[in-house]
Amino acid sequence: MLRLHDTATGLVAPVPERDPGSVGLYVCGPTVYGPPHAGHGRFVLVYDVLRRYLEHTGKAVRHVSNVTDVDDKIVDRARAERRDWRDVAAESEEQWWRAMDALGALRPGVVPHATEHVAEMAELVAELVARGHAYETSDGVYLACDTVEGYGMLAHQSVDSLRAGARVAVSEEKRSPVDFALWKKAKPGGPTWPSAFGPGRPGWHTECVVMSLGLLGEGFDLHGGGLDLVFPHHENERAQAVALGRRFARLWVHNGLVTVGGEKMSKSLGNYVELEDLLASADPRAYRMLVLRSSYRSPLEVGEAALADASAALGRVDELARRIGTLRDERGAASGEVDGLARTRKSVGDRFGAAMDEDLATPRALADLLVAVRDANRLLDSGDVTAGRSLGRAALEHLAVLGVEPGAASDRPGTAVLELAGRREEARRSGDYAAADALRSEIAALGWQVDDSPSGPHLRR
Ligand SMILES: [Zn+2]
Repeated sequence: MLRLHDTATGLVAPVPERDPGSVGLYVCGPTVYGPPHAGHGRFVLVYDVLRRYLEHTGKAVRHVSNVTDVDDKIVDRARAERRDWRDVAAESEEQWWRAMDALGALRPGVVPHATEHVAEMAELVAELVARGHAYETSDGVYLACDTVEGYGMLAHQSVDSLRAGARVAVSEEKRSPVDFALWKKAKPGGPTWPSAFGPGRPGWHTECVVMSLGLLGEGFDLHGGGLDLVFPHHENERAQAVALGRRFARLWVHNGLVTVGGEKMSKSLGNYVELEDLLASADPRAYRMLVLRSSYRSPLEVGEAALADASAALGRVDELARRIGTLRDERGAASGEVDGLARTRKSVGDRFGAAMDEDLATPRALADLLVAVRDANRLLDSGDVTAGRSLGRAALEHLAVLGVEPGAASDRPGTAVLELAGRREEARRSGDYAAADALRSEIAALGWQVDDSPSGPHLRR
């Protein structure tokens, strides 16, 4: 049974199952205003592996991850580039999925967009005011944090110490510096929606409350996100749910951040790694391996040496898969081998499960599997084909649970191919068939075919 560290209690506890056999997982997704960076890739891979493992253990996972498609950052960039804010959001979201597909991350089952749920957010804000937990000012509506029981629970700080640490209030009408905007009244030029408080738009912390409770229901199992979201974002999400008298997430899981050269990655430090640049120079699977080699709660150092090391390990995995594939063709399954495989699969699976169940200890699980890969290659070298093949297959099957598939780099289109395919789809939709055909040829030159189907274009070798 999988146990995870709960940020709220500080304890490692079994993954809750409100509905036995299934797990509801809400992960805060991206604000789409620019290209994704290495940190985005990490959090997506962490929850991808969590989901894959839960599914491997037989759970049905309802994986919801939102897209924040209206925000100051989106509006500011659109204004600076004299574009419609919706174009900036749509273009950045396309970039996002291209990079995440290249990483081999399973897309979430449900991807709600903030702009699709604004009416519900406006209703939620009005209800918070009616219940006496929020108040209106000249520029918006704010949650009165000290009316909410347990505010500061995720940050592990009292309201008083949070208040002392808060920056000076922007609005003098705010009753406390920790109070936060639920609704922002309209400013000239920005997008607006109607509400009981006049036109405006919701604050960021409100969308996840509406979407998680709306899509997963009260008392859903897991709420995840980056460590940088614990406070104030998640604290403020929880506060709204509590103020509404609704049971929120049962367990909070947070992943560590990415560092480059030992420092937190940030644009101002100049050590910012865009995901598409990283994937253009490295096998996407190597980045997954890098993520797996750190505890999901620790900082992750991204550097060329670590990626090269991960690539070398992948080389041994690919080599083993090739050898087993060839053997299968030559010999077929010998009698008695089936039992041997079942036994080996169980012993490899037991060790794998023991590591993963203890707070998703991927470094230990991966190290064990890579030892099995090495041993399987040695057994094959020494001519013990039956044992080598059993151990090799068991190792490869469990690597696949972590999303590491042998040879997947060549089976999956890279970012260059995905970008060309995206441009071709745009050209095709706008009726520019000459441009679409030219792009098809460019894609073919990279070794890929595009098939158009009712569900969209599909790429194949
Ligand atoms: Zn959120």
